[in-house]
Amino acid sequence: MIEFKNVIKQYPNGTIGLNNINLTIKEGEFVVIVGLSGAGKSTLLRSINRLHDISAGEILVDGKSVTRANGKQLRRIRRDIGMIFQSFNLVKRATVLRNVLSGRVGYHSTFSTMFGYFPKEDHEISLDALSRVNIREKAFTRADQLSGGQQQRVSIARALAQQPKVILADEPVASLDPLTTRQVMDDLQRINRDLKITTIVNLHFIDLAREYATRIIGLRAGEVVFDGPVSEATDAK
Ligand code: ADP
Ligand code: ADP
Repeated sequence: MIEFKNVIKQYPNGTIGLNNINLTIKEGEFVVIVGLSGAGKSTLLRSINRLHDISAGEILVDGKSVTRANGKQLRRIRRDIGMIFQSFNLVKRATVLRNVLSGRVGYHSTFSTMFGYFPKEDHEISLDALSRVNIREKAFTRADQLSGGQQQRVSIARALAQQPKVILADEPVASLDPLTTRQVMDDLQRINRDLKITTIVNLHFIDLAREYATRIIGLRAGEVVFDGPVSEATDAK
């Protein structure tokens, strides 16, 4: 589902973010990427939906080249990729439902979504997504009235509303307490199992990675230093 071929990412200031990454992630996998701060986890994730360009190599998603895609092709690829951030990135003053509906934007012309118009089907898809993360009763609450854990579940629902093939979660639990962390990780795991959505999660705690991943990839200084099943990941720091 996702393929990295000799991928190098060098930032304009010269810093190497990724140093020759080769990876294949299969459909339906639940992969956790671990590594210390600065290891390249975020750079790797952001390269997949081309939030930034890579310097060399190629990345494929579902057989399509992200690297060579033109504007229209890239929008099509991005529709299949739901992204979840540490800081939730919700529109704070909008309702939960409005936020989740924004996951549907890629399915419509800019013109209709500019005026906040979404067909009935989109409302149903969005409410279903909220049910999957057990937060449907908050649909008409303003996003900024929710706790951090609830906001992260809304952002998961927004990703689900895209009906994506892939979910990328960049340190999704880094600002949450231990209990909420588990709820959010449980949600991601359940969604991966029930909907077969290929999932990549960046974490900096190896213990959490071991508990949830089927495969752990360890990064250090932009290189893969471990890649294997959880059972072998005892030294994966
Ligand atoms: P992680 O997500 O594992 O903490 P990052 O992918 O954020 O690591 O960073 C990898 C390396 O790239 C680090 O050395 C970081 O300082 C550097 N880096 C990240 N973003 C930028 C940027 N916009 N400009 C320059 N260097 C960056
Ligand atoms: P986080 O680890 O929470 O993702 P970072 O500190 O890695 O946050 O990055 C915050 C922002 O600063 C990101 O947009 C990243 O691209 C940028 N950044 C990170 N490291 C550098 C760097 N060495 N030089 C320039 N920008 C950087």
